Amino acid sequence: MAHLRFNALNLVQTRKKVEVVSPSDKISDYFGELAFGLEQMEKTLSPEVFEKVKHAIRKRKRIDPDTADAVAAAVRNWAMSKQVSHYTHWFQPLTGATAEKHDAFFDPSKGIERLKGGELVQQEPDASSFPSGGIRSTFEARGYTAWDPSSPMFVYGSTLCIPTIFVSFTSEALDYKAPLLKALDAIDKAATRVCKVFDRNITKVNATLGWEQEYFVIDKALHDARPDLVLAGRTVFGHNPARGQQLDDHYFGSIPPRVYDFMKDFEIHAHRLGIPLRTRHNEVAPSQFEVAPMFDLVNVATDQNQLVKDIMERVSQKHDLKVLFHEKPFAGLNGNGKHNNWSLSTETGINLLQPTSSARDNLMFLTFFVVTIKAVYEYADLLRAGIASDGNDFRLGANEAPPAIISVFIGSTLTKVLDELESNGNLAIEKGDNIYMKLGIDQIPEIILDNTDRNRTSPFAFTGNKFELRAVGSDTNVSNPMMVLNLIVANQLDDFHKKVDKQIEKGEDRRLATVDVLRNYIKTSKSIRFEGDGYSEEWLKEAKKRGLSNVTDTPRALDFFKSDKAIKLFEKYKVLNRKEIEARHEIMLENYIMKVQIESRVIGDLAINHIIPTSISYQNKLIQNANGLNNLGIDAKEILKNIKLISGYINDIGRFVNQMTEERKRINKIQDTRERAIAYCDDVRNKYFEKIRYAVDKLELLVDDEDWPLVKYREMLFLR
Ligand code: ADP
Ligand code: MG
Repeated sequence: MAHLRFNALNLVQTRKKVEVVSPSDKISDYFGELAFGLEQMEKTLSPEVFEKVKHAIRKRKRIDPDTADAVAAAVRNWAMSKQVSHYTHWFQPLTGATAEKHDAFFDPSKGIERLKGGELVQQEPDASSFPSGGIRSTFEARGYTAWDPSSPMFVYGSTLCIPTIFVSFTSEALDYKAPLLKALDAIDKAATRVCKVFDRNITKVNATLGWEQEYFVIDKALHDARPDLVLAGRTVFGHNPARGQQLDDHYFGSIPPRVYDFMKDFEIHAHRLGIPLRTRHNEVAPSQFEVAPMFDLVNVATDQNQLVKDIMERVSQKHDLKVLFHEKPFAGLNGNGKHNNWSLSTETGINLLQPTSSARDNLMFLTFFVVTIKAVYEYADLLRAGIASDGNDFRLGANEAPPAIISVFIGSTLTKVLDELESNGNLAIEKGDNIYMKLGIDQIPEIILDNTDRNRTSPFAFTGNKFELRAVGSDTNVSNPMMVLNLIVANQLDDFHKKVDKQIEKGEDRRLATVDVLRNYIKTSKSIRFEGDGYSEEWLKEAKKRGLSNVTDTPRALDFFKSDKAIKLFEKYKVLNRKEIEARHEIMLENYIMKVQIESRVIGDLAINHIIPTSISYQNKLIQNANGLNNLGIDAKEILKNIKLISGYINDIGRFVNQMTEERKRINKIQDTRERAIAYCDDVRNKYFEKIRYAVDKLELLVDDEDWPLVKYREMLFLR
């Protein structure tokens, strides 16, 4: 086995620079040339058809068959001009990956290339192998995909990809995007209604998302020589290198040349697809990096994130690199997160979470700001469930990522504003009074943006003109957390609207009614606000006192997803019905179980087949050596000590692996999925993973480096 490691290390030395040729010096020359969105539609469709499409997208309405035919013909022409022969519906099933099934434009019966409107709009992929949580087996064996015209089509390789949602024939959602689109619809309606009161010109509100994707990059050969990385996406063993991230020298340091070429390469691909990647830099841990685009509409940004990850994986191959999106590929180093910057913006171009110098607009800003905080207060648990994944469990609360406790950070300036608003009792307003001044909100500084304290430990932070949800895992499809966030804010906006209306009916001035309701929100949601260090012990205690949940594992966090309160909310907005929620819950639990099961097996196999045999043969060398020394009458005390240590660790490993296997056997018989998931969490993962790792990592330090079978951390993380 050790030869695999050394072969890989040798390969790394022979790597050649991969030349990256940019189509042009100016990105604008090729940006978006492989995407077919509104801009391309305007160029290729008749004005009437284009208006129809635009209207349908704006209102999220079905596109009529004639319009669909026209779009299909236009996009086929466009695609064929780019040497594209096939098309596929591109969707995001609950497996976490994206799925496609390619069909040719070529129609043998007619002997021509074509794409019918019907084929653009709807397809029936063979869906039987995608998870459905039992929905399909009980109701209908097939599912279909339906075009989402709000996200641009694109050319990938030699295939035209058509973004779609994926639903069963009885219209249960089988993917991430269908419920997301419904939640986005809900927030559009609710936010527009609230906006209209302030500004009659506002007729549509879009939620925006700017994600920041973290990832590790290591040499492909080193990756392939680690069965745990190959099978589980993370290292289950590996002693910390002598040098980790303690020097803090990687962050914003210069990017290693091979990685730099890789970045340039995948950026070109992304830019051609119209994905506005803008930021690239090193992250905190060695070999860790981040990529971020300019923000976009939530569903577009969601597709872009899935696509960028895919591009990165493919392009990395060409560079003999491997990109790791797992939330915690390396113990002892920072994990991978994916910050979700989120805001609401009107079609007229106003960012609703941007404070301004206009007092009237600031009341609108405050409304959206306070409503969002109240929404998070009401549904913190659901938000927690929305980011739950087995990989993320390694991160949350691990002193590098926000804790599993959801709280909101707003900075000192806005804290002062809210405090003032709250304490500003019952105002008597005279005619001609400057109500905003009386309320103390006429002067919210415009420069809050530069002013907001940078609290990196908060899971949900206001950063001047947007909120940043920081607890999302790097490998998570952002649809899930975005669906939850937009839904809970939509719900709160509706509640706000209703309460204000009620007060107005009683004869109150609208502005005062607004402030009244906000004040009430500020008071009730106070416990969710936290400005201190989210990584500290004190916060754990304080949060407990405040009654905030701190659920650190996925199976239990997922309970919130199907609580009565959550189901009521999902059903109220028709985002998911009870059946869909139960199915989804089941799928997420099954996913969790499978992940832990795989890791547990990898740990067992590596320990028994690789670590123990290697350790025993090294130990035999030591025994021989000790005997020899004895014969010569030389003291072998140190050697004997090591022999004993090695024995101890080998025994520990053998014993724990056996016990763990027995536990798995017992647990696999548990019928109830939730119970099984919890047992996997408590009795396999939490009970044995660390213990076995501890012994293996100790052996790594004792056994001759020449014999050690697994590529070491320092080799993966510091080779250039
Ligand atoms: P900084 O670089 O100081 O963290 P930026 O303003 O550059 O702040 O934004 C950080 C991230 O937030 C970027 O990924 C950006 O796309 C995103 N972002 C900025 N404005 C918005 C917005 N209105 N809605 C959603 N995301 C946004
Ligand atoms: Mg960030």
